[in-house]
Amino acid sequence: MSSPTDRSDRPDATRRRLGLVDDTTLAVDRVACTGHGVCAQLLAQVRLDEWGYPIVDHASVPATEADVAIRLCPARALYRR
Ligand code: SF4
Repeated sequence: MSSPTDRSDRPDATRRRLGLVDDTTLAVDRVACTGHGVCAQLLAQVRLDEWGYPIVDHASVPATEADVAIRLCPARALYRR
C-alpha cells in the first residue's frame, strides 16, 4: 500500500501535468530509416522487426535516453513526436 506522499500510483498523465515525469514520445521516419538498429540497442522500448526496422513498443521514453538515441541514429530518422 502506498503512502499519501508516494506518487508512483498516480496515472502518467497527472504526473506529467505536474512536471513529475520527464519523458517523451519517439517516432521513426520510416522513409529515412535504414535499419541500422542502433535505436534498439540503446532503448528497451524499441525492438526490431524481422527486416531489422524498429518498432517502438511504448509511447514514452525517458527524455535523456531519447535524446541520445536521436543524436546517434545514423539516418537521422528518430524524432520526438
Ligand atoms: S537507429 Fe535510426 S536508422 Fe537505425 S533502425 Fe533506428 S531509426 Fe532506423
